Amino acid sequence: MTVEDYLAKPSLALTQRRNDVSLTRYSGRFAPSPTGPLHFGSLITAVASYCDAKSQGGSWIVRIEDTDIPRIYKGSEEHILKCLDVFEFQSDTPIIFQKDRLEIYEAVIDQLKQKQQIYACQCRRKMLGSNHIYTGTCRSLALPFENQALRIKVSDQNICFKDRLQGQHCSNLQHDLGDFVLKRRDGIINYQLAVVVDDYLQGITHVVRGADLLDNTERQIYLAEVLNYPQLQYMHLPLVMNDRGQKLSKQTHAHALDPNKAPELLQQAIHVLGQAPVEIDQPHRMLAQAVTQWDIQRIPKGTEISGIYQ
Ligand code: GLU
Repeated sequence: MTVEDYLAKPSLALTQRRNDVSLTRYSGRFAPSPTGPLHFGSLITAVASYCDAKSQGGSWIVRIEDTDIPRIYKGSEEHILKCLDVFEFQSDTPIIFQKDRLEIYEAVIDQLKQKQQIYACQCRRKMLGSNHIYTGTCRSLALPFENQALRIKVSDQNICFKDRLQGQHCSNLQHDLGDFVLKRRDGIINYQLAVVVDDYLQGITHVVRGADLLDNTERQIYLAEVLNYPQLQYMHLPLVMNDRGQKLSKQTHAHALDPNKAPELLQQAIHVLGQAPVEIDQPHRMLAQAVTQWDIQRIPKGTEISGIYQ
């Protein structure tokens, strides 16, 4: 579906996608944000999402999540694309970039506006109090939408899902978080909205990603429900920690993946995921072998993996 189709008849296009895409066929994705170069933790996510999809005869696609322009780190998009290339990860459809899809997210914002599910909010972050729970101060103020943050109304209900690795997870968004932001005051579309809309429009059925995103899942399930999108299957991988017990990230100075060491790094990632070993070879052959051997029962339990010093 093109942006033009979507904009022409957003509500029709949304229902069309549900009929078009066979939700029985596995469709997975790897969705890095260019907020820093890919590191070993990102490689774990790429390998696991790829092997899980391919071992079930599914498709696997890459999407670059670059709506948060101020957080984009110079050169990281190039590094991501370079790594995908040298690690020989082949996206089954052309890679999409969220920054090219802003009209689509705006069309969904319009839909939510029409359904009176969102409202403008002028509260600053520092007004939220120490627990960061938003108490709905602006819900009934009917403020104009221009130049304000937009929040979605959440309801007092328990949202639960069974993660394929982490088990049952529940949250009452009203108690735990409050109405959350979908579009920021500076006009940036929030990750929660973009990820839900694109997973839906791209026909994604299974999400495999790091356990740092576990707590975002109830928000995404809720938003999908409000938009009448089908529910996805989730698998949150344990996070690779550095020798100081911190999650690998740009902030903790994780090493960027070295494209010259693709086979060795791939072999190590497969090992860290608890999978049967693969011999050093061309990356696509190593990946093919990892796919045939893929067994999620072997992935380490819990939300963290330590003792790997990348
Ligand atoms: N773009 C997110 C990140 O790099 C991942 C989003 C997702 O997998 O849902 O952390």
